[in-house]
Amino acid sequence: MINVRHLTKRYPNHTAVEDVSFAVREQETLVLLGTSGSGKTTTLKMINRLIEPTSGTVEINGIDTQQQAPHELSRSIGYVVQETGLFPHYTVGENIAIVPRLLHWDKDRIRNRTHELLAMLRLPEKQLNAYPDQLSGGQRQRVGLARALAANPPILLMDEPLGALDPITRAEIRQEFRNLDELRRKTVVLVTHDVREALELGDRVGVMDNGRLLQIGTPKELLMQP
Ligand code: ADP
Ligand code: ADP
Repeated sequence: MINVRHLTKRYPNHTAVEDVSFAVREQETLVLLGTSGSGKTTTLKMINRLIEPTSGTVEINGIDTQQQAPHELSRSIGYVVQETGLFPHYTVGENIAIVPRLLHWDKDRIRNRTHELLAMLRLPEKQLNAYPDQLSGGQRQRVGLARALAANPPILLMDEPLGALDPITRAEIRQEFRNLDELRRKTVVLVTHDVREALELGDRVGVMDNGRLLQIGTPKELLMQP
């Protein structure tokens, strides 16, 4: 479903990503694991073209993303970042409606979908009109996920989605993520520096270091490496 070939990103004094290739199958979760600065975020942002590669290609269902308009990409790709990704001056409801509005959904459809997402993510209805800073970290994280899922994109890119949470909330939400049918049907690329998170959430894990993809395999395969 996602095919990344020879992706490279060079800055004037630094190569952030060097010749990274991998494929992600439909409904698979691939976790990119690595320390800070290893090139994970840059790789992720090249998939939805928030960052333009220096060289290499990304194909989604066989189509080069370079040939796709931004609105086509936002239809097929949801993007989740740490809680800071929510617009602080938008309410929860407005944050969730951003992509549906871009796609010109009518009001009823947006309202129905918003309520469905709140129920699915166990967020209280009354928080629809709250602002992100009135929520807990875990709730903000769920809103971020709701926003990314809103228009039903088949692909979800997640950058340290649990990064801003305390360890207990992290474990709780990790468990919730695994139990969400809607999430299990997505093709996911998730970036983390947390080994436990990678092994628990990834169908396969790619290990990045210094801009390169060192190895990629199932958690079991990686744990059996000497
Ligand atoms: P990670 O997500 O694994 O922490 P990043 O992809 O954010 O790593 O960054 C990879 C490397 O590229 C880091 O060394 C970082 O400092 C560098 N880098 C990222 N963005 C830029 C930029 N705009 N200009 C120069 N160097 C950058
Ligand atoms: P995060 O790891 O939370 O995604 P950022 O993407 O903001 O953080 O930055 C990742 C790394 O890239 C950091 O080390 C940051 O210093 C570096 N970086 C980001 N933008 C630039 C830039 N324009 N020039 C140099 N380094 C950068």
